[in-house]
Amino acid sequence: MENENVSKNFIEQFIDQDIEEGHCKTVHTRFPPEPNGYLHIGHAKSILLNSGLAQKYNGKFNLRFDDTNPTKEKTEFVEAIKEDIKWLGADWEDRLFFASDYFDQMYEAAVKLIKKGKAYVSDLSADEIREYRGTLTEPGKEDPAGSRSVEENLALFEDMKNGKFADGEKVLRARIDMTSSNINMRDPVIYRVAHMTHHRTGDKWCIYPMYDFAHPLEDAIEGITHSICTLEFEDHRPLYNWVIDEVGKDMIPDKDEMPPRQIEFAKLYLTNVVTGKRYIKRLVEEGIVDGWDDPRLVSIAALRRRGFTPESLKMFVELCGISKANSSVDYAMLEYCIREDLKMKRPRMMAILDPVKVVIDNYPEGETEYLEVVNNLENEELGVRKVPFSRELYIDREDFMEEPPKKYFRMFPGNEVRLMNAYFVTCNSFVKDENGVVTEIHCTYDPASKGGNSPDGRKVKGTIQWVSAAQAVPAEIRLYENIVDEEKGVYNEDGSLNLNPNSLTVLKNCVVEENLKDAKAYDSFQFVRQGFFCVDAKDSTADHLVFNRIVSLKSSFKLPNA
Ligand code: ATP
Ligand code: MG
Repeated sequence: MENENVSKNFIEQFIDQDIEEGHCKTVHTRFPPEPNGYLHIGHAKSILLNSGLAQKYNGKFNLRFDDTNPTKEKTEFVEAIKEDIKWLGADWEDRLFFASDYFDQMYEAAVKLIKKGKAYVSDLSADEIREYRGTLTEPGKEDPAGSRSVEENLALFEDMKNGKFADGEKVLRARIDMTSSNINMRDPVIYRVAHMTHHRTGDKWCIYPMYDFAHPLEDAIEGITHSICTLEFEDHRPLYNWVIDEVGKDMIPDKDEMPPRQIEFAKLYLTNVVTGKRYIKRLVEEGIVDGWDDPRLVSIAALRRRGFTPESLKMFVELCGISKANSSVDYAMLEYCIREDLKMKRPRMMAILDPVKVVIDNYPEGETEYLEVVNNLENEELGVRKVPFSRELYIDREDFMEEPPKKYFRMFPGNEVRLMNAYFVTCNSFVKDENGVVTEIHCTYDPASKGGNSPDGRKVKGTIQWVSAAQAVPAEIRLYENIVDEEKGVYNEDGSLNLNPNSLTVLKNCVVEENLKDAKAYDSFQFVRQGFFCVDAKDSTADHLVFNRIVSLKSSFKLPNA
């Protein structure tokens, strides 16, 4: 038992306790996004945590849209969020809910509070309420409207509902304790007037419940047992429990099930990476990025477009663990996870990012041979493919030097190298244009070295990739760096973002091997010596292939504790 607990996180330990003590019959969790933007990697953590717990305890998992604030909410976001959660593999089955479906019940709960003398209509403005609330060191002041009778409050609340007041003119406050040491308990606003059209309920309502009132009721109505949220809600927990005790308990569908229990964990932050919805939104709205799914972002849609897999995100979230202390994780760990996930699963293909032509002078003109190439040396199951080889090829400009420094083992005049999986070739000469740029390299090959094997035990130190010119498929390749300048930190003093001018590099003249000509959206590959790449789902077409670099091959990243 002891040992078992050690490997469990603190949330699982709480749940175990609730089950052992007979409070909880069926574990029921939920993910409650507000449809006001796209989900990001932090949400992925919450989704996988909540759905994972339901799975582990043989319980249930709800997807519930917390759509109680119509200002920023849109159906576009609802659809995008559903797609992202599905893609992650979290299954809400038929348990899809909307907080807005409970507006009637929430209204009734507020009426009930008024009848119990636990809520009143206030005339104070938002500024006055803030002023009356007091500070951490000073108690709050009683609201002048606090002495209204139940009848008067009922009538006024109904008038609020019926549109008799302008936005901000009246609010409904819970009567709790203006002297509480917890400011959230000083008669919090629970309903406000807002003449806004809701994306689902239209103009039915002109009053909307506040988050702290709505959320516990949503949990109660759905029979949630463990309401898992992030640390910023820790100070709201007493209010959460107050609402449950006063009006939520009656709403729980199974009277023998425990009332929802709020448990907080630390948000996931990535060092020097913009995760907050608010900031991503700014980048999108200011046109700095190409939409919410720009591959430089860490929204789930962006990670998917960049070429991350659900498995890699799961691995990442598991490595991060669940904690009570805020901390920040290095982006390199995310890169580690995608490399780990793809390295055995994807074929290793040849692509040339910055092509320069090579002519093999002693290779027969007009001839093409198809060489057999192993798809992934670490995973036989991926089989073999045929790659065309001919007299004219492309290699990467980086792999040739006119005057090499010491320890440069790639192509230079007089040097013999291996063309990967093909032949040994020796560079004899090269041609430059009027600007001094090398335009053509001439080599001879050794026919006896077919397959890239030494014919007589002689060694070559360099092995380089190539693509046969006649069959080469043109491609655009996009390389990414962090969108913010890591040296300077994420924000300037004035709150603007420190953008990295090199966050996107577009290479328009790349070539890839013939086998990639039919690559489709989201297909991903290893390009030998270059990294992992994924076909861009937005811009790639059959006539114009576009690849995103997901991640390069090398990293100095080491797993903590490894
Ligand atoms: P943000 O401001 O970070 O963009 P949010 O909290 O406004 O996100 P919601 O739609 O309200 O977004 O969040 C839905 C759920 O996701 C909440 O339970 C919230 O606690 C959780 N969540 C949000 N951000 C993170 C994060 N960085 N790490 C873990 N969970 C998160
Ligand atoms: Mg929020």
